[in-house]
Amino acid sequence: MSLLFIYGTRPEAIKLGPVVAAVRALGCPAVVVCTGQHTTLLKGTPAETDLADGHSLGIPSDGNVPKYLTHATAALKSYLTPVSDETVVVVQGDTMSALAGALAATDRDLTVCHVEAGVRSHDDDDPWPEEINRRKITSLATWHYAASTTAYANLLAEGIPQPCLRLTGNPGISALARYSDARPIHPPEPTILITLHRRELLRRPDEWASVLEGILDAGRAWPEVRFCWPVHPGVLWAIPLSWTQVLPKNVVLIEPLPYRKMVLLLSSCTGVVTDSGGVQEEAAALGVPCVCLRHVTDRPESIEAGVAVRMDPNAVGVAQGVELLARGRLERRPIDVHGDVTAADQIARHLVTL
Ligand code: UDP
Repeated sequence: MSLLFIYGTRPEAIKLGPVVAAVRALGCPAVVVCTGQHTTLLKGTPAETDLADGHSLGIPSDGNVPKYLTHATAALKSYLTPVSDETVVVVQGDTMSALAGALAATDRDLTVCHVEAGVRSHDDDDPWPEEINRRKITSLATWHYAASTTAYANLLAEGIPQPCLRLTGNPGISALARYSDARPIHPPEPTILITLHRRELLRRPDEWASVLEGILDAGRAWPEVRFCWPVHPGVLWAIPLSWTQVLPKNVVLIEPLPYRKMVLLLSSCTGVVTDSGGVQEEAAALGVPCVCLRHVTDRPESIEAGVAVRMDPNAVGVAQGVELLARGRLERRPIDVHGDVTAADQIARHLVTL
């Protein structure tokens, strides 16, 4: 048996890096393949450390989802043609690369293992296409590493047999420890971090404009707070120059940060306003209050625990969320709802037995 890890995006690199490292620490070889879906965003991630010896297929995404799936699946099918029948393919999460990997592997009759299994919003349109992708990957995988007790329950409810499930937690929590020394910080800096990148938000131009208006208003309403937004390249085109020109000085747009810098900044912040699943998980682990700016959430855990809230993605949602954070109305308490530092090791220990 040999283990082959397929990834393509920033969050996959961050969450698979510690699993690959743990597999190798157990003395088992691991082959790594990168589709190339993300390029610049992989800078400063485990793509440059634990995954650095990976082979890249060199297929960057141009934003066309169906085209990317077809292209990446075809390339992965060719890549997998000569591999041994005993190869076990590992994919993570819900991206086009992960789905392409699972499709190509099952086409070749290889076993598929799914890291961060069972995450669900129960809404096929949000997040799109990720909710559809992860359901499809579940249907193709043999082994499912559930990211939380909620995820485990989702998989059981969908009929996945219990012996094929492992409740491991999310290796994103292992990544925090492996790649950074970020830890809960008291008292925090008067900074609110912002990250936004979801396609479904960009597909509703009125809502997007309303969110931008909300950020502008929040900057004016809270001059003592610094708002820091590392802008995902996928949303750059949707930020009007006219909006940036009227921003107050305490609202700062910056380039995407390398992973370690990002989580260190997050740990020191008063709170975060985000539509990112990974950032919401990291905020929970680091005890950073979080406003999840989405219509539905696929990470109910920290919201149920009272350390995060969901707000609609519009000016009112931003205003109410920022007020909760700036007034310290959400508890600053680290919680382990997404597992702990051992998640990657637990996954690796099971993988090497296959
Ligand atoms: N991240 C980063 N630099 C940034 C913004 C985010 O390293 O400037 C990290 C973040 O800490 C988290 C991951 O990227 O680990 C989240 O990725 P993203 O928001 O793109 O995807 P999602 O988690 O929603 O799938």
